[in-house]
Formats: sequence, C-alpha cells, structure tokens
Amino acid sequence: MQNVTELNQTQSDKIQWVTLSAVTLFHVLAIGALFTFSWANLLAAVITWWIAGSWGIGMGYHRLLTHRGFKAPKAVEYFLTFCGTLGLQSGAINWVATHRMHHAFTETDKDPHTPHHGTYWSHMGWIFRGTAQNQDEATQQRYAPDLVKDRVHVFMSNYYYVTPIIAAIILFAVGSLLTGGIFGGFTMVLWGIFLRQVIGWHSTWLVNSATHLWGSRRFETRDDSRNNGLIAALTFGEGWHNNHHAHPRSAKHGLAWYEFDVNWVQLKLMEKLGLISDLYGYQIEKHTEGEPLQEAA
Ligand SMILES: [Zn+2]
Ligand SMILES: [Zn+2]
Repeated sequence: MQNVTELNQTQSDKIQWVTLSAVTLFHVLAIGALFTFSWANLLAAVITWWIAGSWGIGMGYHRLLTHRGFKAPKAVEYFLTFCGTLGLQSGAINWVATHRMHHAFTETDKDPHTPHHGTYWSHMGWIFRGTAQNQDEATQQRYAPDLVKDRVHVFMSNYYYVTPIIAAIILFAVGSLLTGGIFGGFTMVLWGIFLRQVIGWHSTWLVNSATHLWGSRRFETRDDSRNNGLIAALTFGEGWHNNHHAHPRSAKHGLAWYEFDVNWVQLKLMEKLGLISDLYGYQIEKHTEGEPLQEAA
C-alpha cells in the first residue's frame, strides 16, 4: 500500500476551481430536486440517465472508444459519443486517455484514480486536482491517438458541456408544457439534469473507488479490481470490473448468467439490428486454465 504522504505528482497539483464549483452547485440543486417530485420528473431523470450512462458512457466512451470491443460505423460512433457528452464527464478524448492510463498503470503512481491514494481520492478527489479532466496535448496524443486525429471527436470533446445545456432547454420546454407553467419546466430540469447528473457521476465514480475495494474476484489480476453486483446495477453492467480488468477488450463484462449486464444485452441487440459488428464478448466456458490472466487494454 502506498504511503499517503508520498503521493504522485497529479495529487499535489492545484485545485480545479471551475470543476469543484460546478460539482458543488450540481449537488446543491440535486438536493433541491428532491422537494419537487413528480412522476414526469422521475421519468425524465431515468431516461436521461439511461441515455448518458448506458449509451454514452458505458457503451460509447468505455466499451467502444476506449477498448474497441466492437466495430461501429462512424455515424453510430458519433451518436454514442454525443450521448456520452450528456454525462458531463469531460470530452471523450480526455475520458479515453485517462481510462487507458488507468488500465496501463492500475494501482501504481501513474494510475489517475487508484484507492491506493485514498478512497476519497479514487472516488472524486482526482476530479478536483491534477490533469485527469484536462490532459495536455502530448498525453492525449499518446493515449488517444485514434481520437485526436478525428475532427468530429475533437469538436465534440471541446464542446461537450453544450449537450446538457441543450437537454436542459428541451426539458424546460417539456416540463412547462406538461404542467402549464414554467415552475414545472424548472423542476424537470432539476431532475433530468442536476439530480440525474449527480447520481450518474457517483455511479461512474463508484466503479473507480468501490470496485477496486469491495466485491469478489474471479480472475487473479495484478490489480485489486472486483466484481460488484450493486455497482453493476447502478452502471448498466460496468460493475463487473474484475472481469473487465482481466479481459479489457471484451464488450461483455458480465460473464456468468447471474452477472446481469444491460450494456451487453443492448450491444447484442444492436448487432442483430446491423448497427454494429465484430462484437467481442469473452466466453468463460470456452477458456480453460493456463491462458494469460490479463489481456492488453
Ligand atoms: Zn479499474
Ligand atoms: Zn476499461
């Protein structure tokens, strides 16, 4: 275990005040949302959570862009990436570079968010300090060369924060129309943007913190990754994290029948519909002992 006083360079960097202020404001407004419940508002939050967390972050940023677990036409790739920008977790280029570093250097000083540097650090501390949310050009070039040469990805990464603003305008209009007043529009924005965003952030962050701390291990990987059913339920299947670290390119994270993986089910459906191809899913029963425990990311 790393001594907390000997932290790596990224943790001693200055505080990212804009990020800290935005995340704080979102939490305050998310608490405010709890006093304005309606079934329509709840539905708005569930739908936007599904689009951002599952289509965008899970299937788009993670399983497609970072690990290339399947092939998709550019239109599908850009659509899933666009959904990811609704998740407000920085642009895809930063996200992918940071996540590829996490796989390359898991639990070392170069890992952007290992619990070896503290549980709070691995959950959200790393967002507020350091460069993980805003990698320099050399780092982006090194860890996401496939994305930095794509002008559409560069554009979407530069303006990722515009998507939640557009979504907020749409939700405001829908909520106002449904209730016949702007207060209804305002509360739908509280639910569909602020409360949903806070839940979405913590769900993703739990993959970095909780699934490197608590859960079971099917594979003896060199890192501390775990399979955690509760986190999988919150993240549409991303919580089968030990499986994922053992076989990063597999777009299938839940490997047993009881490891429910919503993102994998949707990807299978997309393959059947002809929207994606070459979908790779590791199959546990086909493999026997003696194979390498950890694939390259
Ligand atoms: Zn991990
Ligand atoms: Zn990954």
